[in-house]
Amino acid sequence: MNKNIVLGIEGTAWNLSAAIVEKDKILSEYSQPYKPVEGGIHPRDAAQSHAANMKKVISTVLDKANIDPKNINGVAFSIGPGMGPCLRTVATAARALSLLLNVPLIGVNHCIAHIEIGKWLTGAKNPLILYVSGANSQVIALRNRRYNIYGETLDIGVGNAIDKFSRAFDIKHPGGPKIEELAKKGKKYIKLPYVVKGMDFSFSGLVTAAINAATKESLDDVSFSFQENAFSMLVEVTERSLAYTDRDELLLTGGVGANSRLREMLKIMCEDRDVRFFVPDKKYMGDNGVMIAYTGLLMLKSGMTIKLEDSTVRPNFRQDEVVVRW
Ligand code: AMP
Ligand code: MG
Repeated sequence: MNKNIVLGIEGTAWNLSAAIVEKDKILSEYSQPYKPVEGGIHPRDAAQSHAANMKKVISTVLDKANIDPKNINGVAFSIGPGMGPCLRTVATAARALSLLLNVPLIGVNHCIAHIEIGKWLTGAKNPLILYVSGANSQVIALRNRRYNIYGETLDIGVGNAIDKFSRAFDIKHPGGPKIEELAKKGKKYIKLPYVVKGMDFSFSGLVTAAINAATKESLDDVSFSFQENAFSMLVEVTERSLAYTDRDELLLTGGVGANSRLREMLKIMCEDRDVRFFVPDKKYMGDNGVMIAYTGLLMLKSGMTIKLEDSTVRPNFRQDEVVVRW
């Protein structure tokens, strides 16, 4: 039997999202994002929201795909990394579906899914990857069948850093797009911490200093300076990793990749180095079900399915633990 159709479910944090993918075609996709009433993402609230919306999300992708559910060959889900309560909610639904449809279960590493969808949609072959999302910030390359991490954040992800900064000014979560808007109006550069240690970076000190700076300077200028520092740190480590790994392609992925200033800085650096720069459609840069279904399909074809009893979620799952068999 051809193993060509996979249903995938994402729900590691803010977005409960499912999709059905057949080979290189998206048959259906549907999301019900969790929006905190106030503050940031509360893991238990987010999990409750995912549980309440699960039936709707799954039945919508099944309806929209216009296929007999009997033709689905596997059920994939984000097994980690992510927020424990959210992961458990999604895993429970995936297990039930795999039993119901009598098809294998596939536990997908969320970070690898961000990378694989980026490669698929852009055609990048063997890129260095800058993965910048809410919880994660990493510079990665596939080597000896593993996604090795060359540099990463020592504390919080750059997305969380931006969101934390924005929350101090009562900007609704997620703050990224709003801070980008404010930063565009900024004119003056204010000195803020720039923290690169070896190949790693750190953002907490920058958040605290920026919140303090905003008591004296305009929020536009502080937002601008915050972005300049945070993104320069990322670009510096990315450039050094490109030199070290000798890659001639760079792939940007993760929700923060939507930021036009970050893209501009990376583009300039890539042009200087004769590196081709790949950016997937904005819609597929942040968390989404398509990336889980697509990576699940790659894994299914390589026999990387798991038994129900081995499907415990992995909140701290690192992508370099996975042997890439596809
Ligand atoms: P992800 O975890 O990959 O879904 O990405 C979510 C993160 O992306 C959140 O922290 C958002 O604030 C951030 N984000 C979304 N759009 C932008 C933007 N235009 N600029 C900066 N950060 C953004
Ligand atoms: Mg993500």
